[in-house]
Amino acid sequence: MTVQAILNVKGSDVVSVLPDERVGAAVQTMMRHGIGAVLVRDPVGAVLGILSERDVMRGIARGGAACLGEAVETLATRDVVCCRPQDGIGHVMGLMTRGRFRHLPVMRDGALAGIVSIGDVVKHRLAEVENEARALREYVAAG
Ligand code: AMP
Repeated sequence: MTVQAILNVKGSDVVSVLPDERVGAAVQTMMRHGIGAVLVRDPVGAVLGILSERDVMRGIARGGAACLGEAVETLATRDVVCCRPQDGIGHVMGLMTRGRFRHLPVMRDGALAGIVSIGDVVKHRLAEVENEARALREYVAAG
């Protein structure tokens, strides 16, 4: 199964914020959408970074709730690791495990094509494993 299969189900929408938006506003955006990270993009859509709940926790641990009034770009991670629609689920699981992050934007020919989270990946992998198990049971029963 590929990243494209996940995007076929969840679509290509990516919730994004501007770099000069307040961290507190970005947190509200995450809560409203029920997500744990937002992409930071400039007004023409170029990806500048990613802000996850982990970054907000780090900001609060360092300087308290005042970080909610800072600009998103001060807490966001700048070097964003991305994947491609044709990448396999095993590959993206490896990227997330090695990088210790749970979100991966998807780039197709240099343009943003969506985002996958560890929740999306686990859900699809589980469905894949269940299908494999069912196919094996049917094969054994037929023999
Ligand atoms: P997460 O586990 O995704 O909530 O993020 C954990 C840390 O990794 C945070 O500092 C994020 O800004 C950062 N992060 C999340 N996704 C990525 C990514 N695709 N590339 C680089 N850093 C990321």
